Amino acid sequence: MRSTATADRVRLTVHHVEEKSLIKRFRLTVLVEDSVPAEGKLKGLKSEHGLSILIEISKPKFSLLMDTGRSPSVVLQNMNVLNVDLNAINAMFLSHGHYDHTGGLLELLRLLRRPIPVVGHPEIFNPKYKLDPYLKYIGLPFKRSQIESVGGRLVLARNPVTLMGGVSTTGEVERVTSYEETRGFWTVKNERFVRDPMRDDQALILKVDGKGLAVISGCAHSGIINIINQAKRLMGTAKVYAVIGGFHLTGASEEVIRSTIKDLEQADPEIVCPCHCTGSKAVREMVKRFGDRCRPLKTGDTLEL
Ligand SMILES: [Zn+2]
Ligand SMILES: [Zn+2]
Repeated sequence: MRSTATADRVRLTVHHVEEKSLIKRFRLTVLVEDSVPAEGKLKGLKSEHGLSILIEISKPKFSLLMDTGRSPSVVLQNMNVLNVDLNAINAMFLSHGHYDHTGGLLELLRLLRRPIPVVGHPEIFNPKYKLDPYLKYIGLPFKRSQIESVGGRLVLARNPVTLMGGVSTTGEVERVTSYEETRGFWTVKNERFVRDPMRDDQALILKVDGKGLAVISGCAHSGIINIINQAKRLMGTAKVYAVIGGFHLTGASEEVIRSTIKDLEQADPEIVCPCHCTGSKAVREMVKRFGDRCRPLKTGDTLEL
């Protein structure tokens, strides 16, 4: 049973059409992140534990919201401060089903008042828990029917979803590295309380003309190196331009951090932008190794790539 399921998952990946389209460039804005923005430049920005990133492509004009933070009030307040037009958003992508990435979704859709695609893995709706230190619910704070009732047109797929030429989700990420493990999460399956492998964890890939792949992860619960490898396979290129997002190394052992950074160096990205759940220890190590190429992100930061 188990090996058949694994084989099916692998097939999903291997049989994806190689993505030949490219985008010229894109702009990324961090709408919500854990760290408090530097005082002064943008008054009124709020931060909270969570992530929401806006990706804007100019030709053809496409505006994608990846994750929605934890609280509607925070993402909306920051959109206001950053002059982001909610009505310009064409689609949303949920990197996984944790509350800190999905909490703003319902309110944003309600205010948008126009049906748009909401892309994610079918298991984003699975029950999600952690023991910290007691049993806590950490999944989506609303039901599928609520999302649909406010115009969310759910695109729930295990395989990669093309958002436009040169922009795709990873689909379910193949777990290959020996040191990247998904730990600390629980779910209920077949009436049993079991460990949650977070199969719904995905990332976004942009194939940038002349530069290579930009990989944007939410929490990288499937492992940032596994994600990068999957992106290379899917998009048919080994050139990695940028690695951005939460790398989930908070509380990781020295050895896991070391192995991750070693393989990240091997991938040789021009830019590394850790944030959210990467953890200060891992970020410090990355700054040490990558120097100027490492630019940790905070709420309100923008990148033109
Ligand atoms: Zn998460
Ligand atoms: Zn998170």
